[in-house]
Amino acid sequence: MAERLVFIGTSDLAGLVRGKSFPESDLEGRVMRGVGITHSNLMLSPFGPILATPFGTAGDLILLPDPATRAVIPMQDGSEGLLYLGDFHKLDGTEWTHCPRGLLKRAISSLRDVSGLEVHCAFEQEFVYSGVAEMAGAPYSLGAFRRQGSFGSTLIAAIRACDIEPDSFLAEYGPRQYEVTVSPTPALQAADQAVVVRELVRAVAAQAGHSGCLAPMITPQGVGTGTHIHFSLWNIAGEPVTLDPDGLHGLSVQAEAFVAGIIRALPALCAVTAPSPPSYLRLKPGRWAPSHGDLGVLDRGSALRICPVTKGTPENEARQFNVEYRVADATASPYLALGCLIAAGAEGIRTGLRLADVAAAPLPQNLTEALDHFEASGEAKGWFGAEFHAAYLMFKRAECKEVSELSSHALCDRYVEIY
Ligand code: GLU
Ligand code: MG
Repeated sequence: MAERLVFIGTSDLAGLVRGKSFPESDLEGRVMRGVGITHSNLMLSPFGPILATPFGTAGDLILLPDPATRAVIPMQDGSEGLLYLGDFHKLDGTEWTHCPRGLLKRAISSLRDVSGLEVHCAFEQEFVYSGVAEMAGAPYSLGAFRRQGSFGSTLIAAIRACDIEPDSFLAEYGPRQYEVTVSPTPALQAADQAVVVRELVRAVAAQAGHSGCLAPMITPQGVGTGTHIHFSLWNIAGEPVTLDPDGLHGLSVQAEAFVAGIIRALPALCAVTAPSPPSYLRLKPGRWAPSHGDLGVLDRGSALRICPVTKGTPENEARQFNVEYRVADATASPYLALGCLIAAGAEGIRTGLRLADVAAAPLPQNLTEALDHFEASGEAKGWFGAEFHAAYLMFKRAECKEVSELSSHALCDRYVEIY
């Protein structure tokens, strides 16, 4: 006899899902009252211990599940668990300002306020699967596809079982590297789904006795493992408004301003979307990952890539048209990464920014440099709010210090173990 458990969690500052579980029979009540959690829970480092916290041991909060996020998680022994993602609330029921999912929700509202628009996104997530032998000639090959056996089809089934629409699964460029992409949805749902898909990659691999690793670099000289965020803008009537065939690179005025806002904010944005020390081993030239804060048309070496559309009716082409943000990896919480991306884009629209107003600068060389930009950025303070901004800085600076003595090999190993 076994009783199914439900886990309520969030993708936290370390980009890891943490929370608590309870019996499924109590789900209805827990949707109303959540699970108790403390402020410093948000300050758990990727390595486990709390390295620094502005909150100490004091305080109580509630993590309240969003029923729309229900996901079935394959457990290590073949049984099933349930996962709900949630929001941090204070005991008086109001949302806690430091909630990662709350930050994304605020960004979605601010974009709606300045433009009446919403963002749709699709996350494309790369990972390294240990269940195949490393072989020459493997990139994109039928052999690499065949060797992973039923892992890919089990993963796709697990994704669909969570009511997430899979798009594609492929053998990527790096040794043992694969990629899974899901269909675009409105931003909050896309971030929830990105969190779930990562967990499914790990869970399905673990059920097969292997690992699905999403760390940005397996070895310092190797191929990077990225999370690419495809986005497009939609109006209140549900019409796509990213494309204007007469606009610069086919971008509408609003899409151009949104993209320009992201480029302007990139140095600070890196601290959130490429938020770990090994993230910067990935952002080097010659890796198909960006090293410059530029916009490229159909160029996979750019920070932002205008993606192709297949020929169709004008309406069909407008629905497909999207831009890809390539400066992210899976050490970033999808809530924080997407929230800050949208907030930066919204600021671009609010200020009527054009691409001609922004210059493509080299990306920060390491996390410390990115954090310096983040600290100095009034805009970044606005994305988080002053107190959360300070807490995030404290958290990330402590993480940098913790691994500062490690060689780049040891650094990769440390994050491979965790992500
Ligand atoms: N693996 C590359 C990265 O680190 C991207 C390869 C591609 O899908 O274009 O972002
Ligand atoms: Mg890829």
